[in-house]
Amino acid sequence: MNSQIHTVQPVEAFSRIGEENAFAVLARAGALAASGRDIINLGIGQPDFPTPTHIVEAAVKALRDGQHGYTPAVGIPQLREAVAEDLATRYNTEISAQNIMIVPGGKVTMFAAILMFGEPGTDILYPDPGFPIYRSMIEFTGATAVPIPIRESNGFAFSAAETLSLITPQTRLLIINSPANPCGGVTPREEIDALVAGLADYPQVTIMSDEIYDQMTYDGAEHVSLLHYPQIRHRLILLNGWSKTYAMTGWRLGYSLWPEPLFEAVRKLAVNCWSCVNAPAQFAALEALTGPQEAVQEMLTAFDQRRRVVVDRLNDIPELSCVTPTGAFYAFPNITQTGWQSKPLASALLEDAGVATIGGPDFGIHGEGYIRLSYANSLENIERAIDRIKAFLTAHPSPKQS
Ligand code: PLP
Repeated sequence: MNSQIHTVQPVEAFSRIGEENAFAVLARAGALAASGRDIINLGIGQPDFPTPTHIVEAAVKALRDGQHGYTPAVGIPQLREAVAEDLATRYNTEISAQNIMIVPGGKVTMFAAILMFGEPGTDILYPDPGFPIYRSMIEFTGATAVPIPIRESNGFAFSAAETLSLITPQTRLLIINSPANPCGGVTPREEIDALVAGLADYPQVTIMSDEIYDQMTYDGAEHVSLLHYPQIRHRLILLNGWSKTYAMTGWRLGYSLWPEPLFEAVRKLAVNCWSCVNAPAQFAALEALTGPQEAVQEMLTAFDQRRRVVVDRLNDIPELSCVTPTGAFYAFPNITQTGWQSKPLASALLEDAGVATIGGPDFGIHGEGYIRLSYANSLENIERAIDRIKAFLTAHPSPKQS
């Protein structure tokens, strides 16, 4: 008998799959807290508010009413209708519920879209710094991941000209995200107009617009949805969901709008993978869209207040400078004057100062020189965290001198 143990290995593509380091930081912060340390978590990107009660009650009622079975793979009809109506009303455009897909989380739309267009020999453009799963999934498919630099000098908006300059005959998919994670930038209308106008020269490019932070803008910044441009609707995939707006990250709920020829492909992917989103969560999502919206406004008011405090307090620290973000719930201070590299600084802040942040390079090569702070935490904790960061930088001016 052969006693040798064969080491099992997945196919090569799995050597290229990446991570979302925010989850590793969340686990480390949890472990430190469990060991008795006082940890303030400004790492993970999720609202610190509970899901509004009326939404929770809708899920409980659905369970009590016996909504325990499979639903259609594309979602329950009344939820698809509600999503279509919500988008149509907010963006003053026509949307057919037939093109709406209910998915288990915003991430699932990017997974499906990247799988549809990624293969060796194709280019996929994505924002950098940007949500880390874009690049991870692109590389998983064997496509070439082409970063679109998101620059502080441009207020962390993307540049239409720079984006268009990166398109090649091999480009199949363009991913954009505004309001954006991790920088909090909101790309202005002129820039999006210019991008859409330029895309007329590249009919082979499908666009995936990640608008998951669409309701989170401040200081009068305008969220310009790609839904405003009928000339690209036939090649637009819209990613959105409930996680951020309704504080529902753990429910695993999202939705997307697909052009006709792609809808069948994503429906089949659902049948092959997740079958459907869990039924009571879909009833909760319906209540979220059709029920009272006051809780959303209250959360936004709180985020706005915290945003001002975070930016003022960070800019009070001589070695840091922070552009005022006008979207999402992240600040992305420039740390180059500290003498630290981003990831060692984020790690030292967690281990030594008890403040969880995320190093900029976890969002791409253009993230070096920055750290991300999520201000989805109480004002009191934000104040304490920034006091600790200031004290830490005073005590450790840079790794070499400390
Ligand atoms: N897109 C962006 C830009 C995000 O920041 C996130 C979550 O942080 C997602 C998508 C994924 O959202 P979900 O938790 O619904 O999968």
